[in-house]
Amino acid sequence: MGEIEVRGISASPGIGMGKVFRLEQKRLVIPEEEIPEEQVEQEIGRFLEGRRKAFEQLAGIHARAVENLSGEEAEVFEGHLEILMDEDLEEEIKERIGGYRFSAEKALGEVFEENAREMEELENPYMRERAADLRDIGRRLLYAVAGEELVSLDSLEEEVIVIAEDLTPSDTAQMDKKRILGFATERGGLTSHVTIMAKSLEIPAVVGAGELLSHCRDNQIAVLDGTAGSVVFDPREETRSACGEKISLLKKEREFLDRLRDLPAETLDGHRVELCANIGSERELEGVLSHGAEGIGLFRTEFLYMDKGRLPTEEEQFAVYRKVAESLGGKGIIIRTLDIGGDKDVPGLGLQKEENPFLGWRAVRMCLDLPEMFALQLRAILRASHYGKLRIMYPMVISLSEIRRLNALLGKAKDDLRAAGVPFDEDIEVGIMIETPAAALTAHILIREVDFFSIGTNDLTQYTLAVDRGNERIADLYQPLHPAVLQLIHRVILASHEEGKWTGMCGELAGDERAAPLLLGMGLDEFSMSAGSIPRIKDIIRRSSRADLRELAVRVLNAGESREILEILKAYRSESLSPGTQGQNDLI
Ligand code: PEP
Ligand code: MG
Repeated sequence: MGEIEVRGISASPGIGMGKVFRLEQKRLVIPEEEIPEEQVEQEIGRFLEGRRKAFEQLAGIHARAVENLSGEEAEVFEGHLEILMDEDLEEEIKERIGGYRFSAEKALGEVFEENAREMEELENPYMRERAADLRDIGRRLLYAVAGEELVSLDSLEEEVIVIAEDLTPSDTAQMDKKRILGFATERGGLTSHVTIMAKSLEIPAVVGAGELLSHCRDNQIAVLDGTAGSVVFDPREETRSACGEKISLLKKEREFLDRLRDLPAETLDGHRVELCANIGSERELEGVLSHGAEGIGLFRTEFLYMDKGRLPTEEEQFAVYRKVAESLGGKGIIIRTLDIGGDKDVPGLGLQKEENPFLGWRAVRMCLDLPEMFALQLRAILRASHYGKLRIMYPMVISLSEIRRLNALLGKAKDDLRAAGVPFDEDIEVGIMIETPAAALTAHILIREVDFFSIGTNDLTQYTLAVDRGNERIADLYQPLHPAVLQLIHRVILASHEEGKWTGMCGELAGDERAAPLLLGMGLDEFSMSAGSIPRIKDIIRRSSRADLRELAVRVLNAGESREILEILKAYRSESLSPGTQGQNDLI
């Protein structure tokens, strides 16, 4: 049989070659017939016993996740344990066993499925992910009640490439990086849990590949290229040796990048910028420090609210901000005030469904309408500012009056703390995110009220181009390198420099290797990205010369469309970037 190549979405970079392990679960037969009344108690007993077993399994997975994954991922399983033991779900299941005389399997299957569907109908990517969690827990419970084993990845004895229809969060949490060379799934997309976890574990992964299981057998050899988004079964000799070469190049590249960790992000002609990390929780701090970030350019505080499903108290927030402040030892940390609404819901807040959530009641609009809730966050940030170098940043601003009203609330929070004798950094800097064309076009006015800007290209792109950032159907129109977006970015940087202030960027474009020379040429002062991207961007900066980059920026800003801009950037990389370690240019 010749080699078969299947292509999917590149979810986590890297390459692996090894034997296939098909992760397929045994199909269960659900007892459909009504149970006799005298069996009700016994059936409820079977459900509770199954739940106890499932709890033990999940508690084990949680303990493992705490050891192997980032805190945020481990927290997912705390949530799973809570859902498994949820009293409302328990009541619903018992009611179906007692009232409808369903078997325990049928009762729980229906209850979990109905609840998952309700979540899916909320049309919100975050809630859709929660629906997947609910199904994952339901399935574990079902197998435990039926007395069947779930095939798992925790007892692998050799290195394998995992192939599955889809992977649940608990499957991924059981993954041991030493045994799993890569994995590919038939389903899943870029925002799914499995993708986020693969990146966090640094396991090469391909998702959404369509038919996979029907093309492979256990123990067959496969090459999985997470960077290219492909899986090759029964690879030919040339494919195998090309894979071997890529693996050794990647290893060399990693060693080289590790050596850059403590070096500055400075061009060949001495122009220095700052490379910072984006985080969503204090548990990501380890990665921030290990990848050599010079600070935190964006702390997305809404995850504190989203994970809890309710408003965190001032004390809870203060504890997190203080820990982050202390861990960074004097390096700058930009705390973004609450940015919920849009695609980020907080289940416990009972937010109303809106026709156009991205254009709706979100971020500072909500904070200005709920000043007491906002004051809790401002006080928590101010109090923590006594323990490190914190900065405050407001998201989604469109006008001067918003900044003035937000700053008035900040002034009031400061007055309250002063009156109570609580120490805080009196000189704490305040900035805004530039995420709307309105803010970008009036940057020269807005800058007078703030200390810095940070450009949020994820939103700026969607609002400038009128392209929903989460809509797969128009994903090809979502172009952060569109001339309109770049003109706005340039304008914002110039406006800040004219006032002697600085501009950073914390949208995904800041970590985009193609864009780095251009942004540097346009004068961007700070780049903030997921911590793992820092070493590669630093390498590009250290191989560039500022004079060349200025010229590059002029050429790009005169180009008429994204395609042309991409070509200019590609040509620059292959022709003008000074050489780095051998082979490294071939990889990136
Ligand atoms: C952005 O919009 O670019 C940004 C960084 O904010 P978020 O992705 O959280 O909306
Ligand atoms: Mg945004």
